[in-house]
Formats: sequence, C-alpha cells, structure tokens
Amino acid sequence: MKAQDVVLKARAAGKCIPAFNIPHIPMVRPIIKAIADENSVAMVQVARVEWEKMSAQSLERVAEEYHKYQDDKHTLLHLDHIPAGDEDYQRVDYVSYLKRAVNAGYQSVMIDGSRLSLDENIRVTAEAVAIAHEANIPCEAELGAVMGHENRQLPPYEEIFASKMGFTDVEEAAKFAAESCCDWLSVAAGNIHGAVAEAVRNQKKPEARLDIEHIAALYRATGIPLVLHGGSGIQRQYILDAIVAGVAKINVGTELRQTYEFALEEKPGDIAYAQDCVYRACRNYIANYLMNTDLRDKIVHQQIGQGA
Ligand SMILES: [Zn+2]
Repeated sequence: MKAQDVVLKARAAGKCIPAFNIPHIPMVRPIIKAIADENSVAMVQVARVEWEKMSAQSLERVAEEYHKYQDDKHTLLHLDHIPAGDEDYQRVDYVSYLKRAVNAGYQSVMIDGSRLSLDENIRVTAEAVAIAHEANIPCEAELGAVMGHENRQLPPYEEIFASKMGFTDVEEAAKFAAESCCDWLSVAAGNIHGAVAEAVRNQKKPEARLDIEHIAALYRATGIPLVLHGGSGIQRQYILDAIVAGVAKINVGTELRQTYEFALEEKPGDIAYAQDCVYRACRNYIANYLMNTDLRDKIVHQQIGQGA
C-alpha cells in the first residue's frame, strides 16, 4: 500500500484513515493487531514530542518495533509533527529528522510550520515536500493553530470555539496549498491536541466541537485531503460530518495514551494488561466510533484517477 493512494481512496469512499500515535513503545503491537483484526486500514505514527517528552525513544526505535509487527495489508508507518519550531519555541533541525525518517522506512511524513508566519511556513513546508517527494512519499503540513501542545494552560474551550481562535484561514489555506505543494493539510477548526505538558497530561481532555462549514470551505479552497489532529474526545457526529466535508486522515493520540497509562496505574508493571486495554480501545475506536471495520475491502479495489 502507498500512503497517498490509501488516503485518496479513503476520501473517494467517503471514509477516513485514522493514525494512532505511539507515546510508549509497547503500544505498537496491540494497535497493529487491532487494525488487522478489524480488517481495516490505519497508520501507526509518532511525533517528535513523543520521544522527547514521553517514552517513544526515537523515530528509529518506533520504526524498528513497527517493522516487527507490521501488516502490509492493513497498516502504514507515518511520521507525525516534526515542528520547525517546537512547543517550547526552540528551533528544530527538521531536515535531518525528515531524512532519518525516509531512511527508517516511514511511508509518509509531516512538517509542522504552524508556529511560523505564512511565508515562512510555505518556505519550510516546500523544503520538506521536496525531501518527501524525492523519496516518493507524501508530506502533510499544518496551517492554523491546533492548540494544546504548548505548556501554558488553554483558554476555556468555548472561548476558543466562539472566537475561532487559531482557526485556519481559508484564503491563506488556498495560497499555502498551491505554493507549498503539500499533499495533505492539517487544519484547525475547533479541534485541539491533548495536553503533553507533564503537569496536565493526565487530565481529561475537554470535549471539542468542530466547525463543519469551516472545514468544508477549507477543502474547497485547497482541493487536497484534510487532516484532523486531536481526534480524541470529539463527539462522533462532528467527526462523521467532518469526513463528509473533506477530512481523510484523523490523528488519535490522547485516547489510547491514557488507556495505556491508566491501565499501568491500575496494575503497575503489567505491560501485557495495558497492551490488552489498548487493543480493545483501538478496536472500539475503529469499529464503533469511525465504523471502519472492513475498510480494506471498501477501499482496496477503488479506482481513482490520481493514485501514487
Ligand atoms: Zn497534531
């Protein structure tokens, strides 16, 4: 399977590909098994913050674990958030991370220049796209502010939603997609990241809503598959409507991370128990939340114009 082909086929079928984050290495195996046992298609992904601040260790370590259990009929390996400037406002050598990801066998990558100005974000993203396309893999980018990774407390959620704080601007998105040539675009339209700061990471994530009209306008303006970050803790109907509006990939981090961590608090040291909890939660997300059981059969024979 090629990542670009899978995402475009999902979009054509009115479905979306979930991408499950790996903050802890033992989560890889049960997530892959859950995806395969649902006969679905999904990505396993890791973000820099997960090896810097959690226990994913490195992008190579996640790739190594992935390659032990990978199921080529059902799973893909994606590199999530490589920020050009990180949540602590430090510069990041994104070029070297992207090259390492290509060498480690990642099938798609993300560059996150969302903390930069529009022009700087376009420049950095175009640079990342060139590296990815050279390796024949797609590149996801981000425009707008999907909040939550920063160390400060978020404003009250309803305030963010009502004021459209950080929402991706439609005109900027059209320019960004055309000039950066990114393949998929992560947008902000009410979705928020789960907290990663140590002090608040265990808190229940605020329930988010989505501005569906805004997502539809972004899709019309860019013409490329949209990505929804912060896929945990959003009411299901919003997700289903967002898929219709243009979302073809959805990132799921907090829900499975907390499942794993809370299981280990319940039974300290019992990794097998925590893995089993993740397995069940992941199957539940695929089957009951996204209704992506048998997704492989639904998209594998799809004929579309521009598969990679
Ligand atoms: Zn994200």
